Amino acid sequence: MVDANVAIAAVTAAMAKLRRTYTDRLPVEIAELTALAEGLTGSEAERPKLEALHQRLHKLAGSGGTFGYALLSTHSRSLEHQAQGWLAGSLASAEDESLRDFAVNVAALINTLSEYSSAENVALPAHASMRTDVGMVLQVWLVEDDILLGKELARQLEPFGFEVRLFTRIRDAESAAAEESRQPDILIMDVLFAEESEDSTEVLTARPVLNSLGCPLIFVSSQGGFPSRVRAARLGAEGYFLKPLDVPRLVERLEYVVERRRASPQRVLIVDDDVSLAEHFRLVLCGAGMEVEVLSQLEKIIDRVSGFRPELILMDMHMPKYSGADLAGVIRQHDNWIGLPIVYLSSETNFDKQVLALSHGADDFLTKPIPDAHLIAAVRVRVDRSRQLADQITKDSLTGLLKHASIKEAAEVEVLRSQRSETAVTFAMIDIDHFKTVNDTHGHAVGDLVIKSIATLLRQRLRKSDLIGRYGGEEFLAVLPGCDIEFARQVLEDIRTRFAALQFLNEGQSFNCSLSAGLACSIENPEADSAELIILADRALYAAKRSGRNRIKLSPPEK
Ligand code: GH3
Ligand code: MG
Ligand code: MG
Repeated sequence: MVDANVAIAAVTAAMAKLRRTYTDRLPVEIAELTALAEGLTGSEAERPKLEALHQRLHKLAGSGGTFGYALLSTHSRSLEHQAQGWLAGSLASAEDESLRDFAVNVAALINTLSEYSSAENVALPAHASMRTDVGMVLQVWLVEDDILLGKELARQLEPFGFEVRLFTRIRDAESAAAEESRQPDILIMDVLFAEESEDSTEVLTARPVLNSLGCPLIFVSSQGGFPSRVRAARLGAEGYFLKPLDVPRLVERLEYVVERRRASPQRVLIVDDDVSLAEHFRLVLCGAGMEVEVLSQLEKIIDRVSGFRPELILMDMHMPKYSGADLAGVIRQHDNWIGLPIVYLSSETNFDKQVLALSHGADDFLTKPIPDAHLIAAVRVRVDRSRQLADQITKDSLTGLLKHASIKEAAEVEVLRSQRSETAVTFAMIDIDHFKTVNDTHGHAVGDLVIKSIATLLRQRLRKSDLIGRYGGEEFLAVLPGCDIEFARQVLEDIRTRFAALQFLNEGQSFNCSLSAGLACSIENPEADSAELIILADRALYAAKRSGRNRIKLSPPEK
C-alpha cells in the first residue's frame, strides 16, 4: 500500500499547485472581464465581444466552485445568464443603465474571492487499483489453528499461484503485517462463531485487526448456520466456506475477489476547454486510480478515442467552437463507439437544455461544480456497468474466458500485430483428457467445476497480455504474443503439471484430470494467418492425444 500512498501524495501536491495557479490567475481574469464589460455600449457590432465575455463567465461559474470559490461561481452564473439574455435578443435592446450595472457587478466578482473554502474537495479516496503489484504471486494469509489442515490447504492452493502463509492466531498475522512491508492480498480465517451467544472473543479481537489489514476476507468454518453467516457478513467477509473445503470453489472465489481488486484502471477522456478545470478533474480521477487523458484539440477527437480507447468520456457542453452535443454526434457516427458512455459535465443548470443535450447521444448529465467524491463514484459506476455489459457479449459465462468468436477475432488481430512488429506469437490449443469419463462418473456439475479450474489455472499462469478463450466445450485456445514455441512449451508444461496435480473431490471420492496441448508458432510459419495457426495447433493437439495424452506436442513435430 506504500505505493498508493506515495501516488496519492503526489496527486494531492499537484492539486494544491493547480489550485494556487488558478487562484493566482483569478484577479487577472476578473480585471480582463471587467475591461470587456466596461467597453460595452449596446451595439450589434459588439456581439463577438459579448460572446467571449459570456463564454468566460460560464467557465468561471463552472470552475469557481471546484477550486473552493462557491460564491464566485454563483455570481458568475447570474452574470452569465444576463449576458445570455442579451445575446438571445438584440444587443441594442440593452439599456445603458443595465450595461453599467453589469460592468460594476463583473468588477465586484473580485470581492467574492474572500469566500474561500477548501473543505469541499479535500479527501482523495485511496483505491486498490493503484497497487502496482499486478502479476505477482498472490499472498494468501491463512489463520488456521489446525496446522495439518493449514498445510494441506496451502499445498492445494499453490498450483493456482497463491502463496500461502500460515498463522495459528490472528494476533500473529497482525504482528507480521505491522513488521513487514509485504501485506496479504487475501486473508482466509478459520472461525467458529458461537451460534447462540454474542461474538466470541476471537472475533472481537479480530475485528480491528481485519480492518487494519484492509484486504479481502474469507472465512472457513465447520459451522454454517444463518447466524454465523450474518456475523461473517458483518465483519466484511467476501466468502464463507464450510469444511471439508471444496478447494476448486474456494479458488474460484479467491480469483473473483482478487480480479475485482486488480481490474485494469478505468480509462477516461476529458473534453473541456477550461484547461485548469480539466486538469483538476484529471488529477481527481487519477488519484482514484484511473487512467485519464484530456483532449485539447477538439477536431482530433476521433483519433484520440481510437488511440486511447476511453471507457467513458466526460464532456463539457459549451465550448467555443463546437458544443458537446456536436462532438457526441460525431462519435456516434462511428460504429465502434456507439456504446461508449458519454457524460456531460457542464455548468449548464437549465433542465430543458440538459434534456436536449442528452437527446444528442449522451448518456447522462453531471453539473459543475461537482464534489470530487461524486465525480469519482459517478465515473466508476458507469464504467463498471459498461464493462459488465461488454463482458456479457464477449465472455463465456462458465469460465469468464473469451467466447469462441471473440478469441478467434482477438487471435486474428494478434497475428496481424505480430507480423507488423515482426515478433513471435504462439498458439496453444488445449483439451482436457477423457473428459467424457469425468462427466459420466461424477456428473455434469462436477465436470463444470473441472472446466472452471482449468480456466482459473490458465488465467493465473499466463500473462495479462496473453489471450485465453474457451474454444469449445472442454477445449481452450491461448494466444501468447511475444513468445516463441520453446518458451510456450515451458509455460504449458508448467500448467500441465499443475493441472495434473489438482485433486478434485466428489462425494468423498477424489480424482485427478490431465490435459493435452498442441502448439504452433508464427516463427516457423511466417506466412500463416490465424486460422492456419489454429489448424496447426489443433493437429499438434491430436498428435498429443494419439501418443498417450497428458503431454504437449509442437508443430511441426519434433524429430
Ligand atoms: P479426449 O481425451 O480425446 O479429449 O476425450 P474427451 O472425452 O475429453 O473428448 P470428447 O470430445 O469425446 O468429449 C468431450 C466431452 O465434454 C463431451 C461433452 O459432453 C463434454 N462437455 C462439453 N462441454 C461441456 C460443459 O460445458 N460442461 C461439461 N460438464 N461437459 C461438457
Ligand atoms: Mg477432451
Ligand atoms: Mg474436446
